[in-house]
Amino acid sequence: MNALRTLVCVLGLAAAGFVRADGGEFLDATTLLDSGDPAQKIDLVFLGDGFTRDQQDLFNAKVDLAVHEFLNAHPLFALRSAFNIHRVNVASPESGTDKFSSCGGESTGDSDQQRRTAMDSGYCAGGGGTVYRCMLTSNDALALDFAARAPDDNIVIVLVNDSGHGGCARGPLTFFTIEDDFEEMAVHEMGHAIFGLADEYQYDKEDTYTGAEPTQPNVTRETSRDALKWADLLLADTAVPTQAHGTACSVSNLPGRAFPEDIIGTFEGAQYRRCALYRPEYFCRMRESQRAFCSVCRRQIIRTLLPKLSVDQAIRFTELLIRDDEDPWPRGEGEIYMNYDLRSRDTTVSGRWPGGGESSFDDDESKTINVAAGIVPEPAAGASASIALRVREDDWPDGDDSLENDADEPLPASGPFTIDKPDYRLSGDVQPAQLRVLFDTMEIKDDHDGFFRGAGDIYVEYTVSNGDVTVSGRWPNGDDTVGINDDETEQMAILAAAIPRPVGDNVLTITTKVMDQDTFSDDEVGSETFTFGGDTAFGTTQVVHQRDRSDYRLTLSVVGATQIIP
Ligand SMILES: [Zn+2]
Repeated sequence: MNALRTLVCVLGLAAAGFVRADGGEFLDATTLLDSGDPAQKIDLVFLGDGFTRDQQDLFNAKVDLAVHEFLNAHPLFALRSAFNIHRVNVASPESGTDKFSSCGGESTGDSDQQRRTAMDSGYCAGGGGTVYRCMLTSNDALALDFAARAPDDNIVIVLVNDSGHGGCARGPLTFFTIEDDFEEMAVHEMGHAIFGLADEYQYDKEDTYTGAEPTQPNVTRETSRDALKWADLLLADTAVPTQAHGTACSVSNLPGRAFPEDIIGTFEGAQYRRCALYRPEYFCRMRESQRAFCSVCRRQIIRTLLPKLSVDQAIRFTELLIRDDEDPWPRGEGEIYMNYDLRSRDTTVSGRWPGGGESSFDDDESKTINVAAGIVPEPAAGASASIALRVREDDWPDGDDSLENDADEPLPASGPFTIDKPDYRLSGDVQPAQLRVLFDTMEIKDDHDGFFRGAGDIYVEYTVSNGDVTVSGRWPNGDDTVGINDDETEQMAILAAAIPRPVGDNVLTITTKVMDQDTFSDDEVGSETFTFGGDTAFGTTQVVHQRDRSDYRLTLSVVGATQIIP
């Protein structure tokens, strides 16, 4: 490794020109997400290798795909202000990457192929490695020098222009190909690079682990409950080990899932070993790329990002007055809904109220609504966030009526706002989003459904309050329901609320009402009010909480509070 470091140094000093000795040409650097000062943020840089000058549109489209998948993964979608994201366009002389007919002395099934590319990527760790699917480079400095064209470069992701299966990481560099569904794997790989998470899958050829306790937060060799890294997340009646091999390790793979998906415990088979290493839940994004992150990984993500978050702005709608519903019908009731866009920096958050359907208003009727409209980044200095609002009356059969007038107005940095138009008036406020409440999963034990079909049509009504500010909502949005069988877990993956942390003697209060929709009258599966008292209940120690009731189990994450305050 010393030789490599020396090489890095020499090349680094020589990298003054636009065209590297091996032919890579710097074209442009673009910031895709700007959350603030790079010194305070995690800066991700996307590079492309084996994309010629004519293939930059392809590269740009793949970056957009990866960024979209990353920013919308749960819980990252509620924490994106921890990141800046940049794209550096580099033209390679030739398209593709290096392939080898043998790797580590074994035949690969590929033919030898040498391509002259900007970062000299290749399978088998760029050549000379032992694992063929390890897509890497012969020379880290090539990628690092191009990444330095971005404003900052904490994590560097190199997309390699090949459709084969390959990915690998070294230091701040992560390489992977653009095979089908690569964007899902990209989020998994960033789980390693950004959050220090271990792989939770096993290889069949390696068996019993005999090494020391792994340093990563999401795998363990521990079989004593109290010594577990995630002991505080276990329910009292969960055994440790939770699910293990019943026979000799060499005989069987891990059996099928025997517990609900949201059960946190120890499941044997992790970090490439079939036996004697355990993962926290049966499924996780660090085991299968298309899955959601497990509770332990989610907690690690939140803990890592807390010090990087900005105090984003939470926008709430509090009251809607309809002066003229534009409805000519004698019944006098307008079926009102509104679409809106919240904008700040380069982010647009769009929404609709109500989530589905309409809300009936007479002329001159006002309603208290208290809904969380969304969170947006704090505006750059001298700028402000804005709201575009379109209020409509649902009409049939001649099309919906517009209420005068559509609005497009700036929002205050904090405090109340009013959008006052001839036909309507919307009141709301802007609050610092210090505390974020995420609903993660819903496990239905008994849906209270007497019907033979067995699937509950579940929805959840909730309120979140800090004593001063209350927001209310419903999962799923609008009038829909989610079919959940008894003893099954559904991903909720929503930001239920973003509000200031409680002050004085106030506490965070969350109420949930879990319902099963029924033809005649809906059944209540269970309802609950619970509180989190004081700052110690938030912060980095306790992040993931499970509310284990007789008929359902809600897993939620509380992100906050004092750590977000600058
Ligand atoms: Zn995990």
